[in-house]
Amino acid sequence: MSLIVQKFGGSSVANAERVKNVARIVSDTYKAGNDVVVVVSAQGDTTDELIEKAAELNPNAPRRELDQLLAAGEQISISLLAMAIEKLGYPVISLLGWQAGFNTNSVYGSARIKNIRTNRMKAELAKHNIVVVAGFQGINRYDDLTTLGRGGSDTSAVAIAAALHADKCQIYTDVEGVYTADPRKVDGAKKLKEITYDEMLELATLGAQVLNNRSVEMAKKYSVELEVLSSLNPIPGTLVKEVAKMEKMLIRGVTSDKDVALVSILGVQDNPGVAFRVFDKLSAKNINVDIILQSFGREGTKDIVFSVSKDNGPLAVELLSELPALEGAKIVCNTDVAKVSIVGAGMESHPGTATKMFEALFERGINIQMISTSEIKISVIIDSVDADRAVSAVHAAFMPND
Ligand code: ADP
Ligand code: ASP
Ligand code: MG
Repeated sequence: MSLIVQKFGGSSVANAERVKNVARIVSDTYKAGNDVVVVVSAQGDTTDELIEKAAELNPNAPRRELDQLLAAGEQISISLLAMAIEKLGYPVISLLGWQAGFNTNSVYGSARIKNIRTNRMKAELAKHNIVVVAGFQGINRYDDLTTLGRGGSDTSAVAIAAALHADKCQIYTDVEGVYTADPRKVDGAKKLKEITYDEMLELATLGAQVLNNRSVEMAKKYSVELEVLSSLNPIPGTLVKEVAKMEKMLIRGVTSDKDVALVSILGVQDNPGVAFRVFDKLSAKNINVDIILQSFGREGTKDIVFSVSKDNGPLAVELLSELPALEGAKIVCNTDVAKVSIVGAGMESHPGTATKMFEALFERGINIQMISTSEIKISVIIDSVDADRAVSAVHAAFMPND
């Protein structure tokens, strides 16, 4: 007998038919003699709709109240799924995040899991119940509800799998696995049989929504092997693991992220300490800086350009405008940019990889504004209007036609 954690995303539980379908998958797993813990997200676009409702009343709603509201989405899903499973004749209980023992810190909207008190889940499993847990939520030390950040149900599932030493963690979604690019946007995207934690972490962080990046980080830390698969088509999905077979491809995937802004500081005095003061000011306000480019000094001045998330662009300009060290410099923010990235462990040993990517962009007349590389990824910043075309062009250049 195995312990299996199964997670179902919003589209997998979007309506009564889909909930019944999930109830069947879960019951089949239970019937085969397994212990089952199920994690579910809010139905369809519920979380977005709740955010819109809040904005109608208060665009700057208190974060605590927002979490109080957003946690309601998952509460609806767990109870409906439990009812559907009971109807099929199987013993089941639904648990909210706090009932399942999720203790988090107090960063409303992107709380981190501190620990999971597993006694309740274990007791329910011992009673042979199917345990249905609300993803995306926990409780802080003040007994207030918290949420884990968008897409956080993936992390809830991996955390349970790690805490209960589950044999398997299956992430069911609306595509058949992890692809070489978003299969809804890129013709010819191929499903991967396997991918490493490190590659998946880069893809998720660089924009591939199929798994939340924190969930991958946690899966790697606790060696939880993940399978990403479809809730609508019962075929094998993609395994995310420590070592993965390479499939005759130089890279594992192409992705894009439009949540990017470029901040340029032009004509800064070319003195020591300027970069330190700029990035110190930003880090003091928890603004995460991604790619940084500094020009050579010429005629006593230089330029510094860096990328941040879209929300943080205007804030960064405001903060830097107050900095005495930048007096006389021009500070501008461009939010019409996107980051396009390729990821793959194989590129380390293939020197032509960057050239091939740049050539594909050049052939489409797409201008590169910034470049950043690491051992297993290359990212470029380009105009956001070019992002989708760029992903398709780069994907076509790297993927073998078979
Ligand atoms: P869920 O509601 O199940 O959590 P998400 O919408 O969060 O599902 O993630 C699934 C979506 O991720 C897919 O519908 C697909 O459009 C998108 N996606 C982006 N990049 C990839 C990729 N490389 N492979 C598979 N899906 C991807
Ligand atoms: N319902 C939450 C969201 O939409 C969590 C999740 O789907 O994983 O972000
Ligand atoms: Mg998701």
